[in-house]
Amino acid sequence: MATIELKNVHAEVAEGDEQILHGVDLEVSSGEIHALMGPNGSGKSTTSKVIAGHPAYEVTEGEILLHLEEGDFDDVEAVPEDARTWNLLELEPNERAALGVFLAFQYPAEIEGVTMTNFLRTALNAKVEEREELLFGEDEEEDEEEDAGYETSPMEGPADEGEIGVAEFQQKLKETMELLDMDEKFAHRYLNAGFSGGEKKQNEVLQAALLEPTIAVLDEIDSGLDIDRLQDVANGINALRDEQGTGVLQITHYQRILDYVEPDTVHIMLDGEIAMEGGPELAEKLEDKGYDWVREQVYNAA
Ligand code: ADP
Ligand code: MG
Ligand code: MG
Repeated sequence: MATIELKNVHAEVAEGDEQILHGVDLEVSSGEIHALMGPNGSGKSTTSKVIAGHPAYEVTEGEILLHLEEGDFDDVEAVPEDARTWNLLELEPNERAALGVFLAFQYPAEIEGVTMTNFLRTALNAKVEEREELLFGEDEEEDEEEDAGYETSPMEGPADEGEIGVAEFQQKLKETMELLDMDEKFAHRYLNAGFSGGEKKQNEVLQAALLEPTIAVLDEIDSGLDIDRLQDVANGINALRDEQGTGVLQITHYQRILDYVEPDTVHIMLDGEIAMEGGPELAEKLEDKGYDWVREQVYNAA
């Protein structure tokens, strides 16, 4: 079971000194769904970006730790127990991703001639290789091959040893799409070309399911979805948790998606801090009373 732990995280804009996060504490483990709610501008997206290591933000105080345990990946048990906690702030974004921290990547709008299938297979293989390097150190043999110029194009080349080849990936994709109840035609379309807003959101869930993250951060995946698409996306998130044991940090302004994805814990963010926490009933209360009610509660108590 993996756990990500934010401890007293303070963050500011990297260029400048405007502070956005003022001490965020948050813990999410595999198999749990946490809703991070809050009004616009409260710091939700900044929280997701500092978890992923976005270069626009600088963490000035606090820690972000990832604890891995046996079963999170095939090979974790080979890592000594005292070396299974990672200080994410010392790792690059792609290294964090390789350890199973997922934040949907924003593609360049369209990539001519690259199917989503190829794109996702490349992402998956890159992640597996990066993870092995992190867990066990550099793979010298492969580096030598690369130095000797044997590397083929990552999009077209044959699978290296340990990599997922085209046929195997197609099978995995098919199974994953069945799991998420998605239309198979989807995977053969070009990257983002012609995807509607709702389809892009579904694609985000598909990416997550394929990469099998330990912790997935989904930022406003419910925005702009009609009710049918909202239910599809919600089913996908539930499948991530139920079938793959992913821990989900579901960032949302609105309570609506939580009718379909029941959170274990609801955290409410105000002005760059977690101001209130509770169970699913807290989100319902919010629906009735709004964020001003939270603000009054918090500032009257202070
Ligand atoms: P939320 O996702 O909850 O709406 P954000 O994390 O996007 O909030 O933003 C929190 C606050 O930080 C807002 O006031 C926003 O204007 C400011 N902010 C976020 N990113 C930047 C940035 N790159 N440069 C300047 N201000 C920023
Ligand atoms: Mg700065
Ligand atoms: Mg946001």
